[in-house]
Amino acid sequence: MTANTALLQIHSSQTWKEQLQDAIRTPSALASAVGLTLEQLPYSKDADDSFSLLVPRAFAQRMEKGNAKDPLLRQVLAASGETLKVEGFNDDPVAETSLYADTPGVIRKYHGRALLIATGQCAVNCRYCFRRAYPYTDNVQSSKERLAAIDQLLEDSDIGELILSGGDPLLLTDAKLAAIAERLRQSDRQITLRIHTRLPIVIPDRVTDQLIDALRPKEQPVVVVVHSNHPAEIDNSTAQALSRLRSEGVTVLNQSVMLRGVNDSAEILGQLSDRLFAAGTMPYYIHMLDPVSGSAHFEVLESQARQILGQLAAMRPGYLVPKLAVEVPGASSKREIAPDYFE
Ligand code: SF4
Repeated sequence: MTANTALLQIHSSQTWKEQLQDAIRTPSALASAVGLTLEQLPYSKDADDSFSLLVPRAFAQRMEKGNAKDPLLRQVLAASGETLKVEGFNDDPVAETSLYADTPGVIRKYHGRALLIATGQCAVNCRYCFRRAYPYTDNVQSSKERLAAIDQLLEDSDIGELILSGGDPLLLTDAKLAAIAERLRQSDRQITLRIHTRLPIVIPDRVTDQLIDALRPKEQPVVVVVHSNHPAEIDNSTAQALSRLRSEGVTVLNQSVMLRGVNDSAEILGQLSDRLFAAGTMPYYIHMLDPVSGSAHFEVLESQARQILGQLAAMRPGYLVPKLAVEVPGASSKREIAPDYFE
């Protein structure tokens, strides 16, 4: 047995909550998980102080040992590049706090949908996250407030879909998720429950029988939009978790962010689509980076992103090519960007 398989066996015996508690929170533990010293990584304490490092071990185990440029490591390491001040990058890059937040915790950005900030907590802190500076303390509701907000939203006949976002909504207990799903089922019209989550990717053991019982996807439309950026994120346990959701009747989609040094290549994106599809998950969107402070070192220019998507379109059938999109504050929908097709 190798050290890696021993580690995997230890962690597969932990519940998802135990794995969350046991997540890596220090740079030295992260360096050690990838077989490097801290001095070999571009770690920055200032970056860590402004947005703390948090990495589940199940995710760290998929990083390549000895590779300081590993694409999974790059997504989670508090790095010196974050301390650069770059014009155009700010703390509210899609104007969520200034344009859309009429009620704390509720974001009504697009017609027919309402988004709830279910929690401010995540299972992993992604360094490029557009909500890394979001004022969660002013926007996370108690369970009672959340259910009252849902009741109020459902009075609006335009609403056909409730989106749970965060933070990571699958950090809510199964009982709280069940209460939300039940509220939607009680409506006299069909309401889709959509959940934006990275948990099935970073801690696949979150997909349990109890979670399925809470959501009851065979009785109402449930869409789970996971977030993965690189094929190495989809190991066997992740694929099993995604396939399980699919087999229980959940529509499972993936969204990615185009990130320099992570997935800015048609080959990588093609492999990601293949692995997702094999696990019953459709590539849905790939977003241009939202210009949040501290993320400029991840930026891929739009012209380059269009070329990459054009190459991907030439390599894969259309259903394996995610839509390239950018959020424009105040727009009525995401703006889709056409790939740069070539002869
Ligand atoms: S899991 Fe999602 S919300 Fe949380 S830090 Fe990552 S991208 Fe942001």
